[in-house]
Amino acid sequence: MKKKVLVLAGAPGSGKGTFKEKITENWEFTGYPYEVIEMSTLLKGSKEFQKIIASGALVNDEDVINIVKKPIEEALHFIILDGFPRTIKQADFLLSLPKLDLIVVKMEADDKEIIKRVKGRRVCPKCSASYSTIKEELMPRTPGICDKCGAELIIRSDDTKIETRLETYRKETEPTIKYLKDKGLPYYEVDSNNILYDGFVQNFLFEIGM
Ligand SMILES: [Zn+2]
Repeated sequence: MKKKVLVLAGAPGSGKGTFKEKITENWEFTGYPYEVIEMSTLLKGSKEFQKIIASGALVNDEDVINIVKKPIEEALHFIILDGFPRTIKQADFLLSLPKLDLIVVKMEADDKEIIKRVKGRRVCPKCSASYSTIKEELMPRTPGICDKCGAELIIRSDDTKIETRLETYRKETEPTIKYLKDKGLPYYEVDSNNILYDGFVQNFLFEIGM
């Protein structure tokens, strides 16, 4: 059986995290098994990679491919792939893997909005929940404190490099997404403001046949 892979793409701060959260919430409700493969989590183990990411640059293709290969191969079910592929070389690797049904979702938001959002973003260092100081629907109940686990919220170090990351995204990753689209894969563009609407994610899942 083929594994369905949702390739979740988009600039930093384009709403990928919220979209992913909404999708997994819906799934937990239906009981349908899924797995989330997050490149940022996979790269967390290495100080060297963390340094590169914090600078706003990308970790090199060989290392990224070596790290992501096993989790993709071992996943049994529907996969949400976040943060991979970011370059054409990584995309070619993904396309070369057998028995995958790839669906590309690109989150859209303009740079000004992204910069505003990312500068207001706060994350929980314990459970990775994500919050905002500017978006009302994403504010924690108590300012600076995680709703889910009570830890003190922090600013992600790479968020302070948002301008550099956006530049890297426009130069490397955006052409990669277009490359996947041009290969004829099912492709959806999602306005990141839409994902907070009730029913949007249910409709989306229905549309991709889940
Ligand atoms: Zn937390």
